[in-house]
Amino acid sequence: MKHISLLGATGSVGTQTLAVVREHPDQFSVSAFAFGENVQTALPLIREFGPKLVAVKNKETAERIRNQIDGRIKIVYGLDGMIEAAVFPDSDMLVNAVLGSIGLEPTLAAIEAGKTIGLANKETLVTAGHLVMKRAEKFGVQILPIDSEHSAIFQSLKGQDRTALSRLILTASGGAFRDRTRAELKYVTAADAVKHPNWSMGAKITVDTSTMMNKGLEVIEAHWLFDVPYDRIDTVIHRESIVHSLVEYDDHSMIAQLGLPSMLVPIQYALSYPSRLELKQTKRLNLWETGTLHFQKVDTVRFPAVKLAYEAGKAGGSMPTVLNAANETAVDLFLEGRIKFLEIEPLVKNALDHHDLIPEPSLEMIEETDRRTREFVRSLVK
Ligand code: NDP
Ligand code: MG
Repeated sequence: MKHISLLGATGSVGTQTLAVVREHPDQFSVSAFAFGENVQTALPLIREFGPKLVAVKNKETAERIRNQIDGRIKIVYGLDGMIEAAVFPDSDMLVNAVLGSIGLEPTLAAIEAGKTIGLANKETLVTAGHLVMKRAEKFGVQILPIDSEHSAIFQSLKGQDRTALSRLILTASGGAFRDRTRAELKYVTAADAVKHPNWSMGAKITVDTSTMMNKGLEVIEAHWLFDVPYDRIDTVIHRESIVHSLVEYDDHSMIAQLGLPSMLVPIQYALSYPSRLELKQTKRLNLWETGTLHFQKVDTVRFPAVKLAYEAGKAGGSMPTVLNAANETAVDLFLEGRIKFLEIEPLVKNALDHHDLIPEPSLEMIEETDRRTREFVRSLVK
């Protein structure tokens, strides 16, 4: 039995993680359950999965649930509460499916506590990949990717000769607006941007797929997870989202992982790793039904966010922290209806241009950079 601390339990990845647990009650249990403020979604799940600890975003939410759940469940809140959930002594594994760089400290704490990490929260690696990977190495902790592309690469690296690796190739759907020109993006609304053609995901990541900043963040995530330099990480648009990513070796062989788009597959693989369990909830891929697969070069004039991410990644130090914090803030502003879709990328670029790079930033420097970047971006918007 694997006991899990789940952060972001009410979200898209969080609820799908619970669906995997529900299907394998003899294999997995949830010992700590953390969410933000979505009490309505959380309450039935807390009753169903019976964690020993529940962490919420703030004191007010803690008070709201106190009389509605089993009195033996410990309730904690704030960042400290999320960290307490991440290091909960009964847990073997942390599944980090919270949204945004707020997931960094809980991940670092869980690594120190020796927990295996299942990581969906890509912002953690973008903002401080060097700290996370160094600490994982020091404590001998494994980081298992949940992001579908990284799970595909992880699977395509298994049993292969790492010294003969030539390239990682991340596939991208291109998002909701892939067939529109930039001129046609002028008036798109948040409601348009949160509809994805292939995947059903949280609002922020769905907007990120439309700018393709999501792919940029994933390039940085792949750099840290697999220790591969940026000039050996490529991206390709693949509109069907069937080939989830590929690894190319020196003999020109490409190894890929395929399947119908479903986050249940990479989530379950991270939970069951290194075993594979039956997955009953999704359809199998029949290639004859799919028929044709398309691949297309990423145009960085059409999708400047991909270029910004490569530049920030290659610059290193605190630049990816700025990239991530500026993007999180700009996407929030867009979802709040305060800026237009086409203002997201210039705000991120502006923040990067205004930042003096700190090489090898400490945790404190990263948190300071993150905070200042958010303030800076908000100050640019009236
Ligand atoms: P959602 O927006 O659906 O869910 C986010 C979760 O985080 C919710 O449970 C939310 O709680 C919680 N949360 C947000 N802010 C806080 C906070 N300050 N304190 C405590 N909890 C908080 O996001 P997704 O599931 O889409 O994404 C989660 C992560 O996984 C992201 O890093 C994303 O990039 C990554 N990812 C997602 C994929 C997907 O298919 N969705 C695919 C690959 C990666 P509440 O709603 O209760 O307030
Ligand atoms: Mg992904």
